Amino acid sequence: MTARPTTTSVPTTTTPMATAPSVAPVAPPAARGAARAGSRPAPTGRPRGAYLAAKRPCDVVVVGARCAGAATALLLARAGLRVLLLDRAAAGSDTLCTHALMRGAVLQLHRWGLLDTIIAAGTPPVRSAVFRCPQDDVRLPVRPTPGVAGLDALYAPRRTLLDAALADAARRAGAEVRFGMAVTRLLTDGAGRVVGVAASPATRAGAVAERAAAGDARRRGGDEAGSGQAPGPREFLVRAALTIGADGAASTVARAVRAPARRVGPAAGSYLYGYWRGLPTDGYEWFYGPGSSAGLVPTNDELTCLFAGRAAARMRPVRSGTREARTALDAVAAAAAPGLTDRLAGAEPVGRVAAFTGRGAQLRQAFGPGWALAGDAGLALDPLGVHGISDALRDAELLARAVVAAGPAPGPGLDAALGRYQQARDRLALPMLAATDRLATHAWHRSSPRPALHALYAAMDAGVDALLALPPAPWADGGWAAGGVGR
Ligand SMILES: Cc1cc2nc3c(=O)[nH]c(=O)nc-3n(C[C@H](O)[C@H](O)[C@H](O)COP(=O)(O)OP(=O)(O)OC[C@H]3O[C@@H](n4cnc5c(N)ncnc54)[C@H](O)[C@@H]3O)c2cc1C
Repeated sequence: MTARPTTTSVPTTTTPMATAPSVAPVAPPAARGAARAGSRPAPTGRPRGAYLAAKRPCDVVVVGARCAGAATALLLARAGLRVLLLDRAAAGSDTLCTHALMRGAVLQLHRWGLLDTIIAAGTPPVRSAVFRCPQDDVRLPVRPTPGVAGLDALYAPRRTLLDAALADAARRAGAEVRFGMAVTRLLTDGAGRVVGVAASPATRAGAVAERAAAGDARRRGGDEAGSGQAPGPREFLVRAALTIGADGAASTVARAVRAPARRVGPAAGSYLYGYWRGLPTDGYEWFYGPGSSAGLVPTNDELTCLFAGRAAARMRPVRSGTREARTALDAVAAAAAPGLTDRLAGAEPVGRVAAFTGRGAQLRQAFGPGWALAGDAGLALDPLGVHGISDALRDAELLARAVVAAGPAPGPGLDAALGRYQQARDRLALPMLAATDRLATHAWHRSSPRPALHALYAAMDAGVDALLALPPAPWADGGWAAGGVGR
């Protein structure tokens, strides 16, 4: 059974919230009583777990359990909040990606105590990036991160590894994690505030697990959830003080609340992706040919991911897994970098070629009454910028810090904290959006890609600086205090 489509299933009973409170910048309040909670049991009187089956209200329900959602749930749970993390996909499932993490993401995984898991899984270290531009090549060594011994490499883990490591850590920290459960609509109170979600099993495994777990509790659902809305057939209602949409660019949560677009980027590329064995790389390699781009990224299992793309309007659509897709990938890669053809000829293609049809960038309103967005749900950029995962982890931490500082309960404190989250996100995201949008045009046959690349990497550095400047976390960080990598 496949996941239920959610885009059409949010019913009209869900109340739209077109505007969020306007918030003046103020100094961040001190973290509320949660300091260094780590993965210790929740404070007395705040039971954790069994929110879905028993209809016990939780503090935060997070929709989407990949890099944004699992990271947000992990940090909130470590801070002692009661968290339910839902994803309609099966546990450990893959998703289309080039995998490349940038410095900020590596720093955060290290701080959270998860980088060693990525390294131990055999993810190859990347110590330089080469930008092969029409005029010349530029090689940049990976700069060590100040104050962290040994943090001098990047990594490109498969999503089956990265997302699972984050979700496992969230579970270990006390979050209830449920895969195979699709959020179909949001619950609202009489004033239009989001007060939770309705979810349904999206996979056969999800349905079996929920039937076993729920028993009679499910049938008590509506009233116990306190939403005043009865569950539909096969629906579970979950009441939460805050609902976080980390459910990707086509976010069900963002659409249900009609989160306004704060900025859109019109440029969109289309890309093809495949894996090769026996294709050594010179670190991350990025190619910018006439109207075309490509990249080589070394990942797990001694595989190298190759992508190649063009502006969407200049790419003939092909279906994933077809012979046309493989032929097109070879042709676009050769256009971006003629030398790639010989390198590919000496390597073994593994698996199918996948196609990604481009979409313009979108920065959405990040919060409103009872809801907030993280990751691609709030900020989705063209993949050519290669920063989506890093942005998602950064925003997960900024959002988690805001929620922990103010507490998840409704009120002006939470609104102000979420306003500061949005300001911080936008300040870091807007230069990245502009630079990525310029790259996505693939128009560097008229002008060099270098200015856009400089702008992109300046935006990346600003993101790393912002992470380094954060005050101590209100949760226990796995490896940060001890410093050093690969201990
Ligand atoms: C082709 C491609 C290549 C990319 N390459 C890179 C790269 O090399 N480096 C990089 O940093 N970024 C890359 N990105 C971007 C990166 O993949 C995204 O930015 C990142 O995945 C965003 O993470 P997320 O957790 O916000 O959302 P997603 O990864 O999209 O995860 C959202 C999750 O929400 C779940 N979900 C959705 N709706 C519901 C619902 N109604 N109920 C329950 N669950 C739901 C989905 O099942 C999914 O698991 C690439 C993107 C694409 C498309």
